Amino acid sequence: MLTCCAQSKSRSVAAFLLISMLFSCILSSTSSEISDYEYQGSDPCEFIDDLSFDSNSANASITWQTDLGPRLPGSNASQNLRTSIIENLSDWTFEESSHQRENFTLTNLVGTFSPLNSTGQNVVFVAHYDSRYMAERDENESMRDKPIDGANDGGSGVAVLIELGKIIPQMNLNHDVTLFFSDAEDQGIPGGGYPLTWSYGAYAWVENLTESYKENISAYIVIDMIGDKYLDFTKVTDTSNQLWETIVPITAALGMMEEETDCNGEYGIEIFNPNRTRGVIDDHVPAHEAGIPAINFIDINYGEDAERWGGYWHTHEDTADKVSAESLGLIGNILEIGLKSSAWTLEPSQVNNVELDNNPTINSDSNLDYSTQKNIEKSRAVGYISIIIVSFILVLILMADISLKL
Ligand SMILES: [Zn+2]
Repeated sequence: MLTCCAQSKSRSVAAFLLISMLFSCILSSTSSEISDYEYQGSDPCEFIDDLSFDSNSANASITWQTDLGPRLPGSNASQNLRTSIIENLSDWTFEESSHQRENFTLTNLVGTFSPLNSTGQNVVFVAHYDSRYMAERDENESMRDKPIDGANDGGSGVAVLIELGKIIPQMNLNHDVTLFFSDAEDQGIPGGGYPLTWSYGAYAWVENLTESYKENISAYIVIDMIGDKYLDFTKVTDTSNQLWETIVPITAALGMMEEETDCNGEYGIEIFNPNRTRGVIDDHVPAHEAGIPAINFIDINYGEDAERWGGYWHTHEDTADKVSAESLGLIGNILEIGLKSSAWTLEPSQVNNVELDNNPTINSDSNLDYSTQKNIEKSRAVGYISIIIVSFILVLILMADISLKL
């Protein structure tokens, strides 16, 4: 009997302590709601009449790239392409980094544009610039071991990033933009399997980022195989839903969504379908795995009425004539509007916004604020997990108590 009462008393004390912890967790998590943040973004239609992305120039780049020959890691063509990108984008600061993988050396090319009044937030655009070393899906078996042109698969993303890079310095942005031309995305062994032999360049880049650099990336947007004349794309797996939500109003404004009206009030055609998600292993995966908000624009039905992962994909038909200026222009316009409407930067506090507008030298302060907000987000997640664990323990104790009394 004594044992019973002593146990009961100690359980009551334990329950009281746990309930106190529970309340303190709830309080800490609700108080952090005040500093919650979300993507900014204004009406895309404000920018629709003043777009400067040059789709014809992007299209001309496709032929230029394929004329270089296969852009295999370590090749002269690969080197020449990097040199041309650096020469074309003279307002950008470029860095190359090389990594040894299997029987080749890959070289990532990363360009940064950081305006004087940058908040420190960083929107990263990614396209692989290597082309595939083989054509495993080609009808002609004797040609399957030959490298492909990679007009769409490689060339299209690079072409759009180069043209975007030319107009970004005139956009008066208040954050950093990074153009990441990744190498060795497409040197994988056919059929997949583990360990993955795809996206070596993107893995190498993400793995070598510092924590503070990673935390400042507000969006990591991959474009790959976006030049198909018959353009269509969906959401893909291992990406950020929050970031996909920012794409809906922009694609609707451009008439790329069947059930949404464009800036003229007319229904669009189905180019982007956000209600479908497809599994894709590509350069967004390493970023997503590292906790960076990432999405990927990729059209996996290459050619008219092509099946998923069918059509001209990984064949010798992936040539410049299959790519259209119009499709490159649509993707270019999404990226241009996204930047101009601040769709991919996070909402800083109102006070900070005012300070930033008036004082361009406040960079480090706003950086701190941004990191702090990220930390608040993390602590809230920890708070919620704590609530669940504490509640579970509490229920166990109460159940034990009841069963003893019974
Ligand atoms: Zn490919």
